[in-house]
Amino acid sequence: MVFGEVRFREPTRVRRPDRDPRFACVACQSPGPDDLPIFLDRAPADLIERHALSDTSVELGGVLLGKECVDPDGGRPFVWITQALEAKHYANTQASFTYTHDSWEEITRERERLHPDLDVVGWYHTHPSFGIFLSHHDLFIHQNFFSQPLQTAYVVDPIQGTRGFFRWLDGRMVQVAGFWLCAERSERVALSRLVDQMENLPVAAGVGSGATLSPRLEAELLKMMNRPAPPLGGPGDRLALAALGGLLGALLLVLVAAAGFWLARVDARLAEQGAALAALKGDLEDSANARKVAADLLLEKVGGETPELFVARYETLARSRDDARRQLAAQQSVNEALGVRVKDLATLSASLQGELEAARKTLTSYEADAKEAPKLRERVVELERSADEDRREIQDQRAILATAEGIKANEAHVELGRYRLLSFAGALSSLLLALAAVFFYYRALPAQASRAPEADARRGA
Ligand SMILES: [Zn+2]
Repeated sequence: MVFGEVRFREPTRVRRPDRDPRFACVACQSPGPDDLPIFLDRAPADLIERHALSDTSVELGGVLLGKECVDPDGGRPFVWITQALEAKHYANTQASFTYTHDSWEEITRERERLHPDLDVVGWYHTHPSFGIFLSHHDLFIHQNFFSQPLQTAYVVDPIQGTRGFFRWLDGRMVQVAGFWLCAERSERVALSRLVDQMENLPVAAGVGSGATLSPRLEAELLKMMNRPAPPLGGPGDRLALAALGGLLGALLLVLVAAAGFWLARVDARLAEQGAALAALKGDLEDSANARKVAADLLLEKVGGETPELFVARYETLARSRDDARRQLAAQQSVNEALGVRVKDLATLSASLQGELEAARKTLTSYEADAKEAPKLRERVVELERSADEDRREIQDQRAILATAEGIKANEAHVELGRYRLLSFAGALSSLLLALAAVFFYYRALPAQASRAPEADARRGA
């Protein structure tokens, strides 16, 4: 499909569906006698309704596929829309709908793939809550892309539940007073139900049984499941608010009840703990009493006496304890003294050990000497023998001296000694005389020699 190209298509010669017994047709609104007859099949009508209700916050749209026809009876043209394609890619706001290039491409592809025998006979878009008309923007789109004489524009307001077709008339776009919804004759029930919904008529009892959900009901259900709640304000919202309030009240009641139950539980547990504490206190008191009794018994065993006596006993015990301490101290000093003594003894023992060693050495040497003793004894015997010989010799000489010849010899010996002494004295006196003579001689010589120089000296003076 090429847009902007002015090419008038040759309408198809086909019998109008409202005059064909195979089809069932129901007028929507009231088509005028001079209007372009527009037939919309149930399938595209249903699709457009669902699409329009799928999002009522923005404008949605698509293209209408079908045939531009001429009725053989009378030759009047009419349009038969048998399919619709949703535009998937578009730039839209709440008040405008614009096909994008991607959108056109996709629609073209889809048409060629799914319905190559159908023509683009118009386009549709939604005006959520602002009524059925063509804005300047809509007219611009229609003039530029849907300029064929039988190409129509279908506008749906899914909020107000109104819809309308526009068609070319004398170069202007005008709304038709009504159109027909068509279906196979076997689908009459579903068709009438759809028409009732589109005209906001109550659906007759039994008519809808066995049929699928209406587009609006389905859209409402989808909206409920998928969308956040719209802003509060309407009577329905007030009802919802009241319901919410009731729910919150119920919740609060439940919470209060739970809190009360919890407090009761806490109170019961506190009571249990109090009882347990009381029991514990009783046990403690019993224990304390038992201890007191035990202490009393002990005291009785200790003496069963007056405090004064007890104190006296205590003091006695304390004294004996102090004595014991003193004894202990004395014992300690004794121990220390013993320790010193032990040290001294150890030193002494060491020195004794040394002496013992020395003695042992001496003994060893003595033992060595003892080995030499026999030899010594032999020598002693020898010496004694020689001494005896000497003694005998002396005795022999004495005996000789004791005889007359001995006396004589002895006298001669004494005489000889006397002579020897006399001769020695004579020699000594002759030596002394000689020395004196020499002395006196050498003394006279120097006296003469010294006298002559003295006379010369006096003469000279
Ligand atoms: Zn519009």
